[in-house]
Amino acid sequence: MQKKMKARTAAFQDANILIGQGIYPYFRSISSAQDTRVMIDGEEMLMFGSNSYLGLTNHPAIKEAAKKAIDQYGTGCAGSRFLNGTLDLHLELEQKLAAYVGKEASVLFSTGFQANLGAISCLLDRNDYLILDEYDHASIIDGSRLSFSRKIKYAHNDMDDLRRKLSMLPRDSAKLIIADGIFSMEGDIVRLPEMTALAEEFGANIMIDDAHSLGVIGLNGAGAASHFNLTDKVDLIMGTFSKSFASLGGFVAGDRETIEFIKHKARSLVFSASMPPSCVASVIAALAIVEAEPERIDRLWDNTRYARKLLLEKGFDIGRTESPIIPVYIRDSEKAFLITDILHKRRIFVNPVVSPAVPSDCALIRFSLMATHTFEQIEEAVEKMSESFARVNIVLETGKVYQ
Ligand code: PMP
Repeated sequence: MQKKMKARTAAFQDANILIGQGIYPYFRSISSAQDTRVMIDGEEMLMFGSNSYLGLTNHPAIKEAAKKAIDQYGTGCAGSRFLNGTLDLHLELEQKLAAYVGKEASVLFSTGFQANLGAISCLLDRNDYLILDEYDHASIIDGSRLSFSRKIKYAHNDMDDLRRKLSMLPRDSAKLIIADGIFSMEGDIVRLPEMTALAEEFGANIMIDDAHSLGVIGLNGAGAASHFNLTDKVDLIMGTFSKSFASLGGFVAGDRETIEFIKHKARSLVFSASMPPSCVASVIAALAIVEAEPERIDRLWDNTRYARKLLLEKGFDIGRTESPIIPVYIRDSEKAFLITDILHKRRIFVNPVVSPAVPSDCALIRFSLMATHTFEQIEEAVEKMSESFARVNIVLETGKVYQ
C-alpha cells in the first residue's frame, strides 16, 4: 500500500481501540430474518435497532413474491435502467409509488442513497442554491457535494433560521430546500407547514426525504407531505425500500417533466445497474400490504407511545422525538459504547450513534420500534436499559439525566 494511505489507515484508531477493549458494536453477524427476535453470533436477541418499522421483512406473501420474480426474471438485470435493465416490474412499481405518494411520476434507483446522490446532484446549476437542514442524511449531503450549485445549511428544523438564510439569497435564483421527513437519528418531523409557507414567500422548491416516514406517517404511511396534507406544496418526494418496505432500493417522485429530466441526467441511475427483480417484486407486495392493512401502522404507533411513556417514566432524555425513532441521549461516546456492550450482552440489540453521525456532545443510543414488538418486549428492553445506565453510573431522575 502507498505510504500516505498507510498513515491514514493507521490513524483510524477509534475502531481498533474499541476492538481492543472488546466492546466494538458494529458489523455484528446476524443469521436470521430481521424480526423482533434475531440470532446474533449464535444467541437470540431482542431487536430494537432495526429500520423495519412495520416488521415486514419476513412476511410470507412478500417472500413468495420475491421467489416468483426470481423464477420469472432471474436474479439480476445485468444493466442500467437506461439500457437493458428496465423490466415491466420496474414500470409497474414506479406507477404505484407515484399514486401512493400523490405525484404524477416516479423513478426507481437501486438504493435510497443513490436516489439522493443522483437526483440532488443533477437538478441545480452554478448560480442556484441547495438549502439543507444541518442534520440531513449523509446521502443528501453527498448529493449536494456532487452538485455545482451553491450550498447553504440552516439550523436543525429551525424555521426562523431558514427564513434568515432564504432572505439573503437573490430573489430570482433557483432554490431547492431539502430535508428529511422524519430525521433519522433525532426522530423529529420536518416543520413542513412553516417550510412550505417560506418556500412560497421566497420562491423556493422543496424536496423531502421520506426514508423514515414511509409506512410510518401520512395516509397509509404515504410520508411527511401527506401527514401535513401538503402534498401539492412539496415538489419532490424521495423514499427508500430498505426500511418499512422490507427490501432494497429507492425512488424519487414528482411532476412528470422533472422525473424525465432526472431519468436522463442522474448519473447514479444511468451508470448503475437497476434494482433486481426480487427486490422490486418485494416492494410491490409490501406496498399492497401496507395499503390494505393500515392497522400495522396503528400497532407501530401503539408501541411507539408505550416505549416513550416507559422511557420518560424512567427519566431518560429522549430529546424531541415524534416518531418510532427514539434517541436515548447519553452525550458521552465512551459511555454510549459501554452501555451498548452491556445491552448486547443482555441480549438487547441497539445501535450506539456517535460523532460524526451526530454532533460530538449528542452521543445516543438509537432505540427504534417495530409494529411487531410486544409490550412485554418493550418493557424488558427499557428495564435492561435502566440497569445498563446504572452500571455506568448514570443516575436517572424523571425528566432529567445526570452524568
Ligand atoms: N435517506 C435517509 C434519511 C436514510 O436514513 C437513508 C438510509 N439510512 C437513506 C436515505 C439511504 O437509503 P438506502 O438505505 O436505501 O440507501
